[in-house]
Amino acid sequence: MADLAPVLPDAQLARNFADIAPPLTADYALLEANKCLFCHDAPCTIACPTHIDVPAFIKKIATGNLRGSARVILEANPFGHSCARACPVEVLCEGACVLNDRDEQPIKIALLQRHATDHVLERRLKLFEAGKPTGKKVAIVGAGPAGLSCARDLRRLGHAVTVFEAKRQPGGLNTYGIAEYKLRSDVALAEVQDILDLGVELRMGVAIGRDVLFDTLVTDYDAVFVGVGLGETKALGIPGEELDGVVDALSFIAHLKTHPYRETRVGRRVVVIGAGNTAIDAVTQAKRLGAEQSTIVYRRGERDMPCYDYEYELAKRDGCAFRFHAVPKRILGNGRVEGLEVETPQGPELIPCDMVIKALGQTPRSEFAVPRDHPKVFVGGDYVSGGAEIVNAAAEGVAAAKRIDELLGRTHG
Ligand SMILES: Cc1cc2nc3c(=O)[nH]c(=O)nc-3n(C[C@H](O)[C@H](O)[C@H](O)COP(=O)(O)OP(=O)(O)OC[C@H]3O[C@@H](n4cnc5c(N)ncnc54)[C@H](O)[C@@H]3O)c2cc1C
Ligand code: SF4
Repeated sequence: MADLAPVLPDAQLARNFADIAPPLTADYALLEANKCLFCHDAPCTIACPTHIDVPAFIKKIATGNLRGSARVILEANPFGHSCARACPVEVLCEGACVLNDRDEQPIKIALLQRHATDHVLERRLKLFEAGKPTGKKVAIVGAGPAGLSCARDLRRLGHAVTVFEAKRQPGGLNTYGIAEYKLRSDVALAEVQDILDLGVELRMGVAIGRDVLFDTLVTDYDAVFVGVGLGETKALGIPGEELDGVVDALSFIAHLKTHPYRETRVGRRVVVIGAGNTAIDAVTQAKRLGAEQSTIVYRRGERDMPCYDYEYELAKRDGCAFRFHAVPKRILGNGRVEGLEVETPQGPELIPCDMVIKALGQTPRSEFAVPRDHPKVFVGGDYVSGGAEIVNAAAEGVAAAKRIDELLGRTHG
């Protein structure tokens, strides 16, 4: 890279990547829980894709039953812990809370959810157990939130489950992608471990389509669930993309999340191309690593940005800059990045920079063909939606487990 930003002191880095929403104290949680109106047909529950019974779990917090509260949450959502930290609650449960209509602050549902789920995760309390063996076996491709949610519910129903995961660690984007200040990898892995402890067989470093044929799974197992998420970051398709200092957002974030902070170096002047939530995560994390300038370059206007408003606000608070109506034309440099040429309504312009982060979204997966309408094959998560949230992947994994269970000839209790 042309010019690297100096490495910040460890204490500063730790502060920069500390939880953006710190946990509630016990007293505060009690106070907040008692503000809930415990609505009938609660809109917060309806707004949640996994339909967690929000008033029920909040009531349990109000009566001091944190274990029972966590059970209500995790019963509906196997990833209730990571969702408490990373869900876009502003547009889901908290956005739907009736208190908004009274011009009051909504109940802090996410922080209450975290309060309850932290309680069981930190104490390693086991809330669920595997069901009586049914003799049926299911293969799951991908150990992300979709695959593992499906795995958890299938194990509770007594089916044998083998999860095939291409990477070295399970958890999917929870482990490798969610912004560090929302969810650290060790927390993501602890949540995953709870699911694996139900007796899920995990085969790491096995890519279906490369190491094992998809058809083999269809032949060898009673059902197959595919939750492989999305593929690589899309290419820019402009000259200079191969220069040293051009990286893709997912690799940049994954490196940050799996190494000591000081080992992820950034340029003094970073440009992030794109304006979705991943672009925001990249621009803020580059700034928090010590970039002097961290700038989003976006070809459309401010109102067209696909990121959530609150993510945009966060990046602005972090001191990130925004260049709208700037279409990237080529990356300039002699071996290393020195600038990005953009076309603006005023004509071509050079934005000097030392690092370019590509964040144009992800390509679909294509390692293997999944037969449509095959009675034994089920799909869910980002692989199907094209990119949503953890909570959607969890909901689809749970729903698939129900359908697989029906296929395998059991009834629900
Ligand atoms: C940068 C970034 C930030 C995000 N931030 C948030 C956030 O703050 N909050 C939120 O709710 N959501 C966020 N999301 C979205 C969320 O992470 C995803 O919606 C969710 O992880 C999807 O789960 P999944 O199980 O479908 O896929 P993934 O999490 O992608 O998991 C798929 C798994 O399948 C594995 N796999 C792929 N191909 C194969 C194969 N051939 N064989 C075996 N295994 C394979 C992959 O290695 C991976 O582990 C973010 C996404 C990104 C990219
Ligand atoms: S809508 Fe708000 S007040 Fe009503 S149950 Fe949900 S969190 Fe409580």
